Amino acid sequence: MGNATSRSGKPRVQSDLDALSFSKATGLYPYCPWSERLVRRLILRGRVAPRYPGADEPTEVQRDECLICFLYYPMLNSTVCCGKQICTECFLQIRPPKLHHSEDCPFCKTPSFDISFKGPKSSEQRRMEELEEQRVMRAWEAAQRQNCEHEEDHSLLNLMTSTSKPTQSLKEPRQIPVTNVLLPPELHPVTFETLSGHVH
Ligand SMILES: [Zn+2]
Ligand SMILES: [Zn+2]
Repeated sequence: MGNATSRSGKPRVQSDLDALSFSKATGLYPYCPWSERLVRRLILRGRVAPRYPGADEPTEVQRDECLICFLYYPMLNSTVCCGKQICTECFLQIRPPKLHHSEDCPFCKTPSFDISFKGPKSSEQRRMEELEEQRVMRAWEAAQRQNCEHEEDHSLLNLMTSTSKPTQSLKEPRQIPVTNVLLPPELHPVTFETLSGHVH
């Protein structure tokens, strides 16, 4: 991360008016276990993002995707444990209001998960995220190319060995180096590092 100095201490909801206008359930779910009064208080305190309506496709304003409902919002909460983006409606569904009730993180299964809300992302933050996304995409494409080449080599090798020893290829389990296993980066935290270290 660079030194994105946003100097303002605690990012807050745009305005209290915003908090009040967007404290009602959006209708994304037919029922919400939290009372509207309690949610309004959480929004006013900046504990959770306002209940903005989500958009099916990203727009100029709604650019952050909730990883549960896959709708786009102007700003989102993120899980404390693994930093995944989640909208307030989805969070309220997953975490009931009972004090003694705790839920595992829907993404990484950390027990008693919680979220934090840091307000809208800065343009610098968005730029960094875009760059990171592009980097992961390039690494993924390179790994896929390498994987194809490897499979071609492997089938050629199989062809050659099978002409001399016909049963060889059947006995041998197919070996794929760990570095070539293609997992989305979020499922494999070291994927990007591992891949970029091995891509030639
Ligand atoms: Zn959601
Ligand atoms: Zn998590």
